[in-house]
Amino acid sequence: MSFERPNIKRMQGYTPGEQSNLDGIIKLNTNENPYPATAAVATALAGVRVEDLRRYPSPSALAFRTAAAAYHGLSPENIIPTNGGDELLRLVITTFTSAGDTIAVAEPSYSLYPVLADIQDCELHRIALDEDWNLSADFSRQLADSDAKLCLLVNPHAPTGKLTPQARIIQIAQEFEGVLLVDEAYVDFVDPDLSYELTRELERLGNVIVLRTLSKGYSLAGLRFGYGIGAAQLIAPMMDKTRDSYNTDHVSQLLATAAIESVEEASLSWRKVRMERTRVSAALTSMGFDVLPSECNFLLATLPTGYDAEKLYLDLKSQNILVRYFNQPRLSDKLRISIGNDQENTRLLQAIEQFLLASR
Ligand SMILES: *Cc1c(COP(=O)(O)O)cnc(C)c1O
Repeated sequence: MSFERPNIKRMQGYTPGEQSNLDGIIKLNTNENPYPATAAVATALAGVRVEDLRRYPSPSALAFRTAAAAYHGLSPENIIPTNGGDELLRLVITTFTSAGDTIAVAEPSYSLYPVLADIQDCELHRIALDEDWNLSADFSRQLADSDAKLCLLVNPHAPTGKLTPQARIIQIAQEFEGVLLVDEAYVDFVDPDLSYELTRELERLGNVIVLRTLSKGYSLAGLRFGYGIGAAQLIAPMMDKTRDSYNTDHVSQLLATAAIESVEEASLSWRKVRMERTRVSAALTSMGFDVLPSECNFLLATLPTGYDAEKLYLDLKSQNILVRYFNQPRLSDKLRISIGNDQENTRLLQAIEQFLLASR
């Protein structure tokens, strides 16, 4: 006897990346920022008083919405704060699709998407990336043919790290009749010279929601705070109807507001990550890896011919260095390696060099 809905009974849950607090572990497997959150966040945390928790928090997280709106040059009605970016994904799906509808995603991409589609009892339509890991040239046609109500795209992309140019995203949005969610979890690490700023176009594009998170760029994965940005008529139904009325708590609202108000300091860590990304990528390339150009805080690297990615993953793990190995089509000859701080990256590169020598 089972009480679950049939689609829940059938589905598999999401498996989070390995988390470990082991002393001395070098954790390069779940794309956390290697540098600390800003001083303003630490000050805000130190200032939390237990008596402030007696009352309910601001239901609309107004201070955060105002700060985020100022940062993006938009209004608070364009912003919905959420319990991590993941809650926004769930809200978008429950607000804009019905059971039986189709949700389109690029393949491969974030492995939470299929799980959330299953929960809502939606069909998932996967549109394969082309052989260079770009969106296929006929992406819009495939999207239209799928009859999808919602399309979820990660940009810059995970797990490849590649950035789709803004003009291409806008074109896809304009040709699509459904809602396009652009998951910008890693956008803070994009080279500013590329002038990628889709948020500027959202008022004009009435069918695009951008996902942002404080987990990666702001070094606050443990806080669980993200937000959605979009035209007011897309944000309103989630803000006023489908979210929990207190979906973000008082402490996270305070810290998230401090984080976004100190974005200039946070951006110094983004610059360091970009510099380390360039260094690690060059070092891996010189060891014979094929490394995709990344605008994220991780690299997707194909091992040199004759070497086994799973073996390297296990070898690194035995030395307390965690990276991500995907046992799935097109990815099983690669590792996804988060950018750590300079010492961590140097240790990683030494360990990889030793592995290559020892398994020759
Ligand atoms: C990290 C991540 C998110 C959001 O993560 P939260 O910690 O829930 O904010 C969303 N999409 C992708 C692709 C991610 O990697």
